[in-house]
Amino acid sequence: MTDPALVLQADVALDLPGRGIYTYRVTPELAGSLAVGDCVEVPLKGQKRRGFVVAIELRPEPVQFPLKDVPPRQDGISVPAHLMALMHWGARYYRCGLGAFLAGTVPKPVRETALTGEIEVVQLVAERPEKLSKRQQAILSHVPAEGIELGELCDLAKTQQSTVRKLAQLKAVRLETVAVELRRDIREVGMEARGEHHAPTDEQRAAIDAVAAELAASKHAAFLLYGVTGSGKTLVYLELAERVIAQGRQVLYLLPEIGLTPQLAARVRSRIPRTVVWHSAFSAGERAEAWRRVAAGEVDVVLGTRSALFAPLPKPGLIIVDEEHDQSYKQESVPRYHARDLAVVYGGQLSVPVILGSATPALESVANVRAGRYRVLRLANRPGGGKLPAPVLVDMRLECKAQKKAAVLSRELVDRLAAAKAAGNQGIILLNRRGWSPIVACAMCGAAVECKSCAIAMTWHRGAAALRCHYCDATSGFPERCPACNEPAMSTRGVGTEQLAALVAEAVPGLRILRVDADTVSTRQGHAKLFTAFSRGEADCLVGTQMVAKGLDFPRVTVVGVIGADRSLAQPDFRSAERTYQLIAQVAGRAGRGEHPGAVVVQAYDINALALRAAVEHRPKTFYDEALAQRQEYGYPPYAGLVRVMWSGPELVQVEQTATTQGTLIHTVAAPNCQVLGPNPAGLAFLHDQHRWHALIKAPTRGDAQRFLDRLEAAGGLPATAAVRVTVDVDPYHTT
Ligand code: ADP
Ligand code: ZN
Repeated sequence: MTDPALVLQADVALDLPGRGIYTYRVTPELAGSLAVGDCVEVPLKGQKRRGFVVAIELRPEPVQFPLKDVPPRQDGISVPAHLMALMHWGARYYRCGLGAFLAGTVPKPVRETALTGEIEVVQLVAERPEKLSKRQQAILSHVPAEGIELGELCDLAKTQQSTVRKLAQLKAVRLETVAVELRRDIREVGMEARGEHHAPTDEQRAAIDAVAAELAASKHAAFLLYGVTGSGKTLVYLELAERVIAQGRQVLYLLPEIGLTPQLAARVRSRIPRTVVWHSAFSAGERAEAWRRVAAGEVDVVLGTRSALFAPLPKPGLIIVDEEHDQSYKQESVPRYHARDLAVVYGGQLSVPVILGSATPALESVANVRAGRYRVLRLANRPGGGKLPAPVLVDMRLECKAQKKAAVLSRELVDRLAAAKAAGNQGIILLNRRGWSPIVACAMCGAAVECKSCAIAMTWHRGAAALRCHYCDATSGFPERCPACNEPAMSTRGVGTEQLAALVAEAVPGLRILRVDADTVSTRQGHAKLFTAFSRGEADCLVGTQMVAKGLDFPRVTVVGVIGADRSLAQPDFRSAERTYQLIAQVAGRAGRGEHPGAVVVQAYDINALALRAAVEHRPKTFYDEALAQRQEYGYPPYAGLVRVMWSGPELVQVEQTATTQGTLIHTVAAPNCQVLGPNPAGLAFLHDQHRWHALIKAPTRGDAQRFLDRLEAAGGLPATAAVRVTVDVDPYHTT
């Protein structure tokens, strides 16, 4: 018998369930040009599918079935080898097929337009049909005046292409096919650049030198740049970035939210002109163009949110993750990766330094410093001479007694706002809850109006005259009568930012207020517009959700107020204390950037909660010591590796059944060293018309969690059924 002939074969990763790797023959004509990382379109079961070449090898010809050929390539889209290595690592760690991981990280327009050169754009029409469902209207509300790429709309409105196509059939929107070359300019989002060339302070110099030493040695090291708000972390990043660029390498600069970008983008670009802002508001054509420019080496700095980690830089020399504690680095859909954690892995693979910057680092990062895995670089002072604001804690139990009513604003805060206004200064007030009232309930029977799809109380939005579900966007009018007891006794309870803005306006006559929350910042550049107006002094006070706490620099802010500061502590989540601490410390850091230190007024019912006190009194060590000790005691990260499994589907019986059956397997496989909580109904047990059950697996370390998952896969894994979706979340952020 002779050996079967060897033929050149390519493994192609497709975005399909399971492993998603399919093998094709590489024809002699293609043999020299096809490479690992190339985007190709291959035949599969009578369809064409796009995927990426993940291996090319000479192998024996299979005997059972003939191999199909890889079709000739039409373009040059390719994932560089070093990025492919990161994709492999990520797909393995986060337990996602390689094809799905690639599909979730290489922007869709890059994969699609690469091959067709065309995109579909959804446009509004002048006259809409009258009969549209609430859901359809909600989708339309995401279409901006200039139109939006189909896939992007689906992502934004959390819907399917087929749903949008139906809207087009109903003539509620127009679908246009646009050649991508027409949209090849990248619109720059940005505020005016401020030329910034300060000489580094001694602290900044020490931080720069420490990282530069690793750069010079081409070595990997992870640094935590732990600097108070306003301590000048950006200057450290930019000085180092310039050195990296001088070596002919590029810089990845990640930040949590696009709202931060306009101010920062201008600062970065004023020093490094070849900077691309990689943001979610890119149109399809822009995204494809940004990819091309970055891959071609025409860009020195990629500045962007978590997905920018996967920008195809030819030779990354430094990775910066600013505000590394921010939870937006964790992706909550497949692939469920954590961009900070992956950035550290990537830096190791590339042998380049990684800088994680924060004024309020994640407990995981502090633990990594204490364990010697990260090196800490401290910036303890504000170079501008700004002083940290004075803490003022207001006990709202006493305040309500004194005011003889359920007060929302303390007299202390009102007085300070009025004084700031009189002195020509500004204020910021944080309440992490949007809308007019979070609850509409019946005064007779107490029943609150819940979303039919989510079993969550609906929020009253007065301006929009609508009750809204903050999970699925469902809307309805104000109910005349109680849905439960039919009495006409419905009223609002509680206060959101919309009402707070009205209360502040009433309490401080003449105060010009700008509200900043997801309702006022719905358009692509709304954020930048509001903040520009505020920095120009067109308003005296920002009132808003956590959006107001993010890294902005307003020198005239002398009062910061936090309303309901202890409310978030009540959430049944092991991260609630950490999140509360970070949010308050961050918003407190918005004051005292200029000459006046100002004050932070924190209103709470329990003013002794450590997370609050430590945050306003600038006692981080006390907080970190205590919080870490608690995590250790209860076995949560960083002292455990967590995996969360979620079962969801429209029928409760089937969800429960699958969860219970698979739960038995999980318990068996976990047995040697892991603890399993559940399966049981999730805290949010019904969302988007889906019933939800979950289980939490606590392993002693992340490595142990990976070994548990290996055993689970070997035992057959957790297959989805027709009626029940199964998702596995490694290092989950949400556990309720
Ligand atoms: P962070 O990101 O740490 O909160 P920033 O980088 O925004 O702080 O810097 C805060 C302010 O301090 C900015 O206005 C910046 O221009 C200024 N600044 C930073 N470094 C210096 C320096 N070495 N000398 C003078 N001003 C500086
Ligand atoms: Zn809902």
